[in-house]
Amino acid sequence: MAYLTLKNINKIYPNGFHAVHNFNLEIEKGEFVVFVGPSGCGKSTTLRMIAGLEDISSGEFILDGKRANEMGPREREIAMVFQSYALYPQMTVYDNIAFGLTLQGVDEDVIEERVKNTARILGLTDYLDRLPRALSGGQRQRVAIGRAIIRKVGIFLMDEPLSNLDAKLRVQMRTEIAKLHDRLGATIIYVTHDQTEAMTLGTRIVVMKEGVVQQVDTPQNLYNEPGNLFVAGFIGSPQMNFMDAVVEEKGSSVILNVGGQEFTLPENKAKVLKEKGYIGKTVVAGIRPENVDDDPESLAKYPNATFEAKINVYELLGAEVFLYFDFAGTPMTARVQPGTPARTGSTVKFAIEIDKMHIFDKDTELAICH
Ligand code: ATP
Repeated sequence: MAYLTLKNINKIYPNGFHAVHNFNLEIEKGEFVVFVGPSGCGKSTTLRMIAGLEDISSGEFILDGKRANEMGPREREIAMVFQSYALYPQMTVYDNIAFGLTLQGVDEDVIEERVKNTARILGLTDYLDRLPRALSGGQRQRVAIGRAIIRKVGIFLMDEPLSNLDAKLRVQMRTEIAKLHDRLGATIIYVTHDQTEAMTLGTRIVVMKEGVVQQVDTPQNLYNEPGNLFVAGFIGSPQMNFMDAVVEEKGSSVILNVGGQEFTLPENKAKVLKEKGYIGKTVVAGIRPENVDDDPESLAKYPNATFEAKINVYELLGAEVFLYFDFAGTPMTARVQPGTPARTGSTVKFAIEIDKMHIFDKDTELAICH
């Protein structure tokens, strides 16, 4: 049996707002699960129900084999790290980290050993005598994490713990949290609206939208095989390009007709579209920016999937170039090599790596094939 099981969990707030719909998830010991989705999609609500800070309206939450719906937060043996560090300003780093154990009446010697050990793990040894105001944002966040990990519980819940930090520090702390997970072997459930954070940290990711789980998968699978248009657009930056396309049969081939431009589909995709009755229908075709190329090799490799477009914006990012243009009335992005001759205003011939094309049903928005 899984370590944590959420079965058909719903949250309806007292004002009648249905914030989480039939949430189902099983989490094994030692997993790093990330809840990701746009603001207001129900990530924090779900996390707070797991922590015991919010009632579960219906459904069942099972923790280590026991029903936990009615358990108080303390009983659940879960530690939580919030976005606001919530440190006590008048207490030193040492006392802040020790606070939970002091409250529990743990022996001073034991506390000292555990605070020192926690400080060592988090690189806070030299700061134990300082007050929070004399620390940087990253150091404060580490103290907040220290306060959670000193409790030696099995599950850590983290709600946007890095969102108060600047971009550079966020990346640094991200690495530290990943290392901490390896080191503690802990089970972590982490909430963020940042898909990069989710992709780099999670062993599994739960993508949510408007209180409904869209897909639960590894970062790799979410990227390569998004289950619907929302996930396809949310995961990946710059985001996947989408275009309306009519599926047509031409001789023995199946093509996508995008505003008069024809792209011949590889056999496996053609077969699926035919079998599922999409000939003559409009679908949504999705292609990631890195699969739209302007180099001669790609143009030679995909002669039946090319088009021309005028570049609106050329953006050099050092190791890569983003080209922004309109194609068939849709704004698109290509991520190409820095050696590209393309510039703002030039007309460029592109090849689509058609085998990497994702195709979605226009009505249900579900993926048909990848
Ligand atoms: P964010 O990234 O902005 O924190 P979130 O995905 O964590 O968003 P939640 O905080 O879980 O979202 O909120 C989900 C929805 O529930 C939101 O639409 C929010 O307005 C609503 N909500 C949250 N708390 C309450 C409450 N106490 N009463 C009524 N509605 C609430």
